[in-house]
Amino acid sequence: MPKVLIVDDSSVMRKIIQKNIKAAKLVVDEFVEAADGKDALEKIKGGIPDLILCDWNMPNMTGIEFIKTLHSTGEYSNIPIVMITTEGSDSMRQEAADAGAKGYVTKPFTPDQLSAELGKFLMVS
Ligand SMILES: [Mg+2]
Repeated sequence: MPKVLIVDDSSVMRKIIQKNIKAAKLVVDEFVEAADGKDALEKIKGGIPDLILCDWNMPNMTGIEFIKTLHSTGEYSNIPIVMITTEGSDSMRQEAADAGAKGYVTKPFTPDQLSAELGKFLMVS
């Protein structure tokens, strides 16, 4: 019963990501949205997702701060996280990987790019 948490300060982007996941026929039962890292931590306490898709630049708590905070607890460190961000530099990709991100997609993405990356974590119906 895959549950996906989408963390992005743009509500439009959260919807675009969901739309692309559905169009790619990737199996998701429930989408949960969060507007920043702090909000995401609260949402996770309400139910552990199977996959987290996370923006980098957000107010209150950025994506990288969120990953580091999440992984510092240990409890949630096995939830795969894919960064979806405009930040595409090698150093930022490396920082995300070092912090524990399992995947990376740069905006703007094509539907194929997104589904190829998320297909590593979600089944196709
Ligand atoms: Mg943002």
